[in-house]
Amino acid sequence: MVKNIAPTCRECGSVVTDHVEPEVRKEGEIKEGKYIENNWICNECLNQGKDRQ
Ligand SMILES: [Zn+2]
Repeated sequence: MVKNIAPTCRECGSVVTDHVEPEVRKEGEIKEGKYIENNWICNECLNQGKDRQ
């Protein structure tokens, strides 16, 4: 099994997951996000997109 495949945010390229472990969140390398329209996007970029219109 390859455990190396992680989804990345289509906007900022950060590693994204739908569930961030508290200890991982501290590292700041993985962001919480969602899978939308065949692309992963982190919550940060999702919120920015809303403002941008
Ligand atoms: Zn992002």
